[in-house]
Parts: sequence; C-alpha cells; structure tokens
Amino acid sequence: AVGIAFSLAACSAGGRASTEGGTSSGDNKGALVGVAMPTKVSERWIKDGDAVKSDLEKAGYKVDLEYGDNKVQQQAQQVSNMITKGAKVLIIASIDGGALSDQLDAAAKAGIKVISYDRLLTGNKNVDYYVSFDNYKVGVDQATSLLTGLGLVDADGKKTDKKGPFNIEVFAGSLDDNNAGFFFNGAMDTLKPYLADGTLKIQSGQDQLSQAATQQWDPATAKARMQNLIAKSYSGGTTLNGVLSPYDGMSIGIISALQGAGYGTSDRPLPIVTGQDAEAASVKSIIAGQQYSTIYKDTRKLAKQSVTMAEDLLTGKKPEVNDTKSYDNKVKVVPTYLFQPTVVTKDNYKSVLIDSGYYTEADLK
Ligand code: BGC
Repeated sequence: AVGIAFSLAACSAGGRASTEGGTSSGDNKGALVGVAMPTKVSERWIKDGDAVKSDLEKAGYKVDLEYGDNKVQQQAQQVSNMITKGAKVLIIASIDGGALSDQLDAAAKAGIKVISYDRLLTGNKNVDYYVSFDNYKVGVDQATSLLTGLGLVDADGKKTDKKGPFNIEVFAGSLDDNNAGFFFNGAMDTLKPYLADGTLKIQSGQDQLSQAATQQWDPATAKARMQNLIAKSYSGGTTLNGVLSPYDGMSIGIISALQGAGYGTSDRPLPIVTGQDAEAASVKSIIAGQQYSTIYKDTRKLAKQSVTMAEDLLTGKKPEVNDTKSYDNKVKVVPTYLFQPTVVTKDNYKSVLIDSGYYTEADLK
C-alpha cells in the first residue's frame, strides 16, 4: 500500500511540476482573461480597466473587461459569464467583496485562478492572490496630510507647537469594501493622540466607522451627510476646520456642501479636505485651492502587476508577493503584492502627476 501511495504521489507531482501555482491546463497561449471592474462613475476604475486590458493584450491574451455599474448582482453575473466563456484567470475589483462566493467556488472547480484587484475578495478560500496599495498606509497618509494642512505637523512629519483646538469631521468609505476599514483605521490611529488631548474635536461625536461610512462611496450621500453635520454641529458660529475624506469623488460632494453653507470665502475659508485617487477633477480643485490633498496610487503600476501575476499563473510560475500577513479575508490570508501610496498637494502635483506622465498639463486645465 505504501508503494502505491508513493507512486500516486509521484505521478501527481510529476503532472503538476510544470504548473507550480499555475492553472492546470498546459498551453495557455492566447488564453482568455476575465477582468471585472466595479464602476465607471469614478475615473480611476476606467484607468485601471484600460491599463489591465491593454497590458494583457500586449502580452497576447484575450480579454473580457466588464464594469458592474456598482450593482452587486450585475457584477456576479458578469463573473459567471466569464467562467462560462472559458476564462483561465479572473482579475476582480469587487463591488461587494463578500458577494462573489458562488463565482469563486465555480472558478476553483473549473481550475480558474483568481486575482483580487485593489479590493480584497472576502469570505472564500478560492482567492489566489491580491494586488493592492498599502491600504492602512493610505489612511495614515490621509490623516497626516490633514494634520499638515491644519499646521499641526510640518513637512517632515514632525509635530509643530501649534495648539488648536481645531474642529474636524471624519468620513469613511463603503462597508462592503474591505479597504474602507483599513483607510479609516489608519487615519483614526493617526488622529487619536490629537483627539485624546483635545487638539482636535469632532463636534458631531460621530467618530465610529459605522457612523462615518458611505455606502458605495457615493458623492451625493457624502454631500448630504456633510449638510446634516453642518446643520447639527456648526450652525451657531462654530467653524469646521478639517474633513477627513477617503475618496476624491466624496471630497467633491463634501466641498460642495461646505460651499453651499458659506465656506470658501476670505472670511470663512474652506476646511482642509483630504481625498484619494488623484482624479483629474480633484487635482484641479487642489490647484484652485479648494481640496487640500489627495492620495496618488498609480493605477498603471497596479494594472501591470496584476497582469504579471496573471501571466505567471498562466505560464506555471509562482507570482511574486511582498506581503503574506496583512490581508486575512476571513477564511485565509491572501498572498499579496502591495505598492506604496503618495500624498499629493498643490506643492508637488507637478512633479508627481505630470512628470510621471499620469496626466498632461492639459488634463488638469
Ligand atoms: C479604492 C480607492 C477608491 C475607492 C472608491 C477603494 O477600494 O482603493 O482607491 O477611492 O475604492 O472607488
């Protein structure tokens, strides 16, 4: 019996030797790769989708790129279709990270590898790799730029002798997106000492993720919440000095609510407002002195890495990762490749965004 077990093991090892960590079929040249993106409402995902598609095509693969229009069911259907069409790898930026379990099970059954793109797919073991930016660090950077904008921290990240107190309000992203908690925790851990000693005050008292969350990162929802907060806590002459916003689209909604309430004049300047994604509209707002900062995450790098991972899987190589502990999807810790984010303000947008070719001068006019 020992002999048989041994030879079976040797046989299956031999069969898999050339596809270590890869998909099971031998020749994947020109294979179909399914790419699921969440929405076209935000410019970043259009850039992601375009970059992933063109990098895959340059590498000789066929691509099915679909956008879910922020509708969970629509995205699930799109992923199911990719499986039916015979995709060999799926690259998925989810809308609700926990809602694709049936698809992930079906993919595993068909020997399809799954790369979780930017947002972690949760609650299922059939997630092979994750590629993203350091999401906790994004939150730290957002909060640090808020502190810098308020003058509490200098350009080197050192505490100044400015005392405050300053009034701030905090916003978070969508709770079905695993990133939202990472951003919020990174930011709140950074703000905590300033809140504890009274340098910063959240007049509304809404300092919990559940209170700050914004379903589907919706700009109109953020605007409405900002209006409510102003009415509730900043009507009697109390001035709001800063707003932690996790995403540029929401920042635009928040700034619009603030302007509607009379902020943005020389007597009453806009609060320091943060953001994320370096979307063109928000970079323009930064140049105009409205939004204070954003977080630049080069979607070209993320796209390229996801395609390298896909190629490795399709050619039987083991994809490179640089983090094997941070991203527990509730069932497994998913091997991850992380990039580092960059803070952008009026001071450095030219060198970061234009010199790198992410935008032309004309894009930001
Ligand atoms: C992404 C952010 C983006 C947000 C809203 C998050 O998952 O990491 O870059 O701002 O979704 O689209």
